[in-house]
Amino acid sequence: FMSVGQSGSNLSFLIPNLIDSSISFRRISEVFAQKPSVPEADDPKELPSSFAAIGMDRVTFGYTEQADQLKDVSLRIPAGSYVAFVGPSGSGKSTALQLLSRFYDPKQGTVAIDGHDLRNVSESSLRKLAVLVTQDTFLFNSTVRDNLLLDGKGFTDADMIVAAKQANIHNVIESWPDGYDTQIHHEGGSLSGGERQRIAIARALLRKPSLLLLDEVTSALDPATEADINALLQQLRRHTTIISVTHRLASVIHADRIHVFKEGSIVESGTHEELLGQNGLYGTLWEKQHGFHLSHDGLHATVDVE
Ligand code: ADP
Ligand code: MG
Repeated sequence: FMSVGQSGSNLSFLIPNLIDSSISFRRISEVFAQKPSVPEADDPKELPSSFAAIGMDRVTFGYTEQADQLKDVSLRIPAGSYVAFVGPSGSGKSTALQLLSRFYDPKQGTVAIDGHDLRNVSESSLRKLAVLVTQDTFLFNSTVRDNLLLDGKGFTDADMIVAAKQANIHNVIESWPDGYDTQIHHEGGSLSGGERQRIAIARALLRKPSLLLLDEVTSALDPATEADINALLQQLRRHTTIISVTHRLASVIHADRIHVFKEGSIVESGTHEELLGQNGLYGTLWEKQHGFHLSHDGLHATVDVE
């Protein structure tokens, strides 16, 4: 269950009920912020706000008993790095993000931050450290301010405006008649996909997470906004660990490491150049998107001009 942003798989069944029963905004934000999806340990470890590394060690996971969506996945992500998960649809990328933010526990293996199994970590300290932003952002029928602050403890308007500027949505909000007091209707249906997504990103940035997990956040955006968001990620990358699931390979050329998922396993890992050189699945995906082909030394992609 997420504090910020929304995972369709976790919340889609619940949100309509919350809306229909007219539960107050405060109640909804409490639910969003606090309800754990998995049991909390008796004496949970309080994580500090920063960390050195997050990793998965031989993780196998299935949503049901019948099938496993992640199979023996291991990876280690050092703090400060910019990591991309790519691979075909259904290959387990979103599932991996869900486990890294402990919306589920593995069947086998462990997910750990600095050696602390997430099963033993306090939910609230994990939610402060790590924020997941997904494609289908949920906005409340409340003001823009409420939507950004959520429960809002400890955030000033100045913090909120900084985050909105970073997410490139401040000027849009200011252009609305009531600015940050503008009422959002129809759960954000009156806004464009790009506006909703940038509000979700501002909501996440406001919390200054040291780990930012992004699931296809630019998929609904026009190319200009996508470029803005990618530029923002480049600015954040030194201070924030970023794990980005994307099918737009052009946006991950500069990632420190790219993990390629296939059928629940990581089949290739490396930088863009390294992966192109391997001429494997990544190379195939790249070629499909860009019409590039590998040059004879196998290290560089060249544009296939017609
Ligand atoms: P990706 O993000 O790489 O497209 P996902 O991690 O979303 O892939 O999905 C991996 C597999 O898990 C898919 O076969 C998908 O249908 C399945 N899956 C995803 N979410 C659920 C769920 N909540 N319950 C059951 N199966 C799911
Ligand atoms: Mg996905």
